[in-house]
Amino acid sequence: MSKSTEKRTASVDSSLQRLQERHRALLGELQHIGLVLRGSIGHRLARCGNPTCRCKANPPILHGPYYMWTRKVAGKTVTAMLSPEQAALCQDWSRNMRKLDRIVRQMQALGLRAAALVRASP
Ligand SMILES: [Zn+2]
Repeated sequence: MSKSTEKRTASVDSSLQRLQERHRALLGELQHIGLVLRGSIGHRLARCGNPTCRCKANPPILHGPYYMWTRKVAGKTVTAMLSPEQAALCQDWSRNMRKLDRIVRQMQALGLRAAALVRASP
């Protein structure tokens, strides 16, 4: 191994080490993530079928808000109704899911950089 090759390898090693440190820091963040829930929590106001109801008045006073959890199951959108309390919990878990996804994406980006480093080194 020539002198210049050794130098390059050492710099790749230290770069890989930095990537590994950042990877471990992300692993540490995972420890603090609570339950995760895929899907989104939303709410809507609605009209009913009663033609004399306040929801048909001018201006209308709509029913709700009704909370729902929407997610994909085998490619199909599935919606479940939630109470306000359930919605608050599921909202937290959904936020955790987004955080987990973000951390995983960051880990994948570190992996890409590591692969680029080792591919570029002799
Ligand atoms: Zn109504």
